[in-house]
Amino acid sequence: KSFLDLNLSRPLIKACNALGYAVPTPIQAACIPLALSGRDICGSAMTGSGKTAAFALPILERLLHRPRQVAATYVLILTPTRELAVQIHSMIQKLAQYTDVQAALIVGGLSVQVQASVLRKSPEIVVATPGRLIDHLRNTQSVGLEDLAVMVLDEADRLLEMGFKEEITEIVKMAPKKRQTMLFSATLSDQVRRLAALSLRQPVRLAA
Ligand code: AMP
Repeated sequence: KSFLDLNLSRPLIKACNALGYAVPTPIQAACIPLALSGRDICGSAMTGSGKTAAFALPILERLLHRPRQVAATYVLILTPTRELAVQIHSMIQKLAQYTDVQAALIVGGLSVQVQASVLRKSPEIVVATPGRLIDHLRNTQSVGLEDLAVMVLDEADRLLEMGFKEEITEIVKMAPKKRQTMLFSATLSDQVRRLAALSLRQPVRLAA
């Protein structure tokens, strides 16, 4: 199987080629068709499995078909640490290099004011750590979640271990009910299962 068999548009295939990706990893081969079909996903994938492209490619494919009349933030990716957010954001920029999709990085340690002005331009994708995103939702009001079509909860076990349960619950409740959600976690503890029950609708379970 190649990326050509996964129904991805040319700018995305071109980016995979530029990155030297010859064949999809197992999680990509399983996740991309399901995500393109709109299903919610509960994946127990580790870092190193190619998980980031597994959720980013179908997200970018959906965004290529978005209405262009008004800018809106359609995708939110939540991850526990600044380092992971930086990695995901950088990978998305590489995968989106031949598209017009914009991705913003919202993490602690960067200027809140600069981030607020970036968010006001309604980037299609926001990659964020929960604390800083909540800060913007509550205080700068530079970002709204009313147009969210896709939400990703990356490393859900670590999100919860780091004490972000309240923030994530608040964010999930603010997001539109009609959306696609993908949750990834190395482990499926009771706490993670509860978050999955709160955030996912009839998810497909994937392991890789
Ligand atoms: P991740 O699990 O998303 O952190 O990805 C781990 C590493 O695998 C990253 O350096 C990716 O660039 C790389 N990678 C992702 N998908 C592929 C692929 N299909 N072929 C080769 N390398 C890949």
